[in-house]
Amino acid sequence: MRRLVVGNWKMNRTVPEAAAFVGSLLPLLSPAADREIAIAPPFTALAAVAPLLKGGALLLAAQDLFWEDEGPYTGEVSGVMLQEVGVSYVLVAHSERRHHLEETDRIAGLKVRAALRTGLKPILCVGEDEAERAAGRAHAVVRAQIARGLEGSVPAEAPRLQIAYEPVWAIGTGRAATPAQAAEMHDVIRRELRGVLKEGAPAVRVLYGGSVTPDNVDELMRAPGIDGLLVGGASLHADQFARIASYR
Ligand code: PEP
Repeated sequence: MRRLVVGNWKMNRTVPEAAAFVGSLLPLLSPAADREIAIAPPFTALAAVAPLLKGGALLLAAQDLFWEDEGPYTGEVSGVMLQEVGVSYVLVAHSERRHHLEETDRIAGLKVRAALRTGLKPILCVGEDEAERAAGRAHAVVRAQIARGLEGSVPAEAPRLQIAYEPVWAIGTGRAATPAQAAEMHDVIRRELRGVLKEGAPAVRVLYGGSVTPDNVDELMRAPGIDGLLVGGASLHADQFARIASYR
């Protein structure tokens, strides 16, 4: 299975800034057959950045999509529109959207269906918050997010599915999960995937996200069951993101 490293820019970078950033990132990346590298700029920069990603060294991801393909949904962007501008991957239900926009597991499920229907590869984001972990509920929370987010998915879709385990307490805090904590939850996720997707489960990539940096990336990527990374803050620095993408 090829690993996947995705940089989530969140609500950062104007169009000229995005183009300049890609120009500085591309020469720092060393192509490797065992991994894919993607960036997720804001919607406004996707079309401008797409032609700059020569030769597939860098793939394009979007940060969200709507669950219908077109119609009276003011402010929303569909999978069809994202596909058209060259997007391959799309984040679904990032914890910031769950928190600030009250996105639910039901909405996550609709968005996963829409992504698959429109030829995109969804990255379903899951993860417990600090209180849930303290209460011993982390496994149950994550398992429920997966079960509901993948409702209606079938084994044949598994090679196009990604789960990103992002503990909320690790996002943007500088407190990454330890490799042991990440590995433990990835094992829980893999078992839940077996229940939902049966024989398809091994084909799903399970990423880790939450304060990944050049200093902790190698150790995290050596932990069992980690098939890639979702990177926020560090992905806004070309040198840091390139180092993370060349984890060893
Ligand atoms: C994220 O936003 O998905 C994320 C993991 O952020 P950070 O790397 O900054 O913790």
